[in-house]
Amino acid sequence: MNQRLQIETEILTLRTRHPFRIARGEHEDIRTVLIRVKDADGRVGLGEATPQLVYGETPESVLSALEVYGEVLPSDPFDLEETERRLLGALSGNASARAGLSTALHDLVGKHLGVPTWKSWGLDPATIPVSTFTIGIDTPEVIRKKVREASEYPVLKVKLGGGNDLEILTAIREETDRELRVDANCGWTVKQAVRMLPVLEEYGVTVLEQPLPASDLNGLATVTRHARIPVIVDESCHVAADVPRLAGCVDGVNIKLAKCGSLREAVRVVHAARAHHLMVMVGCMIESSIGITAMAQVAPLVDLVDLDGAALLAHDPYVGATLDAGCVELPTGPGLGITERTPS
Ligand code: MG
Repeated sequence: MNQRLQIETEILTLRTRHPFRIARGEHEDIRTVLIRVKDADGRVGLGEATPQLVYGETPESVLSALEVYGEVLPSDPFDLEETERRLLGALSGNASARAGLSTALHDLVGKHLGVPTWKSWGLDPATIPVSTFTIGIDTPEVIRKKVREASEYPVLKVKLGGGNDLEILTAIREETDRELRVDANCGWTVKQAVRMLPVLEEYGVTVLEQPLPASDLNGLATVTRHARIPVIVDESCHVAADVPRLAGCVDGVNIKLAKCGSLREAVRVVHAARAHHLMVMVGCMIESSIGITAMAQVAPLVDLVDLDGAALLAHDPYVGATLDAGCVELPTGPGLGITERTPS
C-alpha cells in the first residue's frame, strides 16, 4: 500500500519591527505554525498556518487540528480537491491549519512537476498590482517615523478605528502625499463611518476597508452608498459562499488564506467575486515569507494587494516572494520556491 504523506510541525515565533496595533488589539510576538509535508521519496512541501484568535484559532489548536488532519492525508499530493473535502469532513473550522496544509501540498505538487505554482496555474506575476505597506495604530510621532521608514513603498495602508483617527491621518499627510488606503478593522459605527467619509476624501484616501463589524451588512451597504471610494470587506468575507450576500452591499472583498482555508478556496473566492462584479483584494496576516508567498500565487488574479506581512518582521526565517518598492516578485523555483534564509 502507498504510504500516506507525513506531517511535521514547528511553532515559529516571529517578532515585528514595531509593536503592531489595530482597532482590536496589539501584537508583538506572533506565533505561527510551520508545516512540512513529506512524501515517500523524501520531498518536502512547506506551509504556514497563521492562527487568529478572533477566528477561534491558536498555535495549540492548529497543532491539535493537524493531528486529526494527518490521519486523512492522501499518499498522492496531486489528490488536492478530494483532500480538501476529506479535511473538512474530518474537522470543520480551523481555516488556518487547513490553509497551511493546502500550501504545503501545492508546494509539493510544484516540486514534483518542477514548476512554480503560479506557472502551473497559467498566471503571469508581472500583472500583480503594487502592494500596500501597512502602518499600525500609534502616536503621531511614531506614525511619522514609520512613514519615513516606509519611504520605498509607494502605497500605504493605515489602520484606523483606535480613537485617534484624525491625529493619524494628519501625521501621515505631514510626511507624505503618497497613495493612502484605510482599514478600520470593524472599528467604527455606521454614524462614525459616514462622518469619516468626507474626512477620508479630504486626506486623499483611495480605498476604505472594513469600516464596520463583520455582520453589519445593512450598515456596510449604507456606508458604501455614501462613499465615493471603494469599500472593501475583509472580516465579513471568509469563503466563496460569503460572496453572493455581499454583492450589492460593498464594492469588493479581501481574501486571506487564514480565513478561506486553502489556496483552492482563495481562487474560488476570486471567481465568485468576479461573477458578482466585485473588486478583489488579497491580504495577509503577520507571517513569514511562506504564508506571504502562498497568497502571492493568487495575486496575479486581483485588483488590490496587501502582502506586507513578512516585510513588517524584524527577522523572516524564509526567503520567498519579495516586495521591492511594493512590487511583488514571485520566486521562480518549483512549487512556492521558498528557501531558508541563511544567517548573514
Ligand atoms: Mg483588513
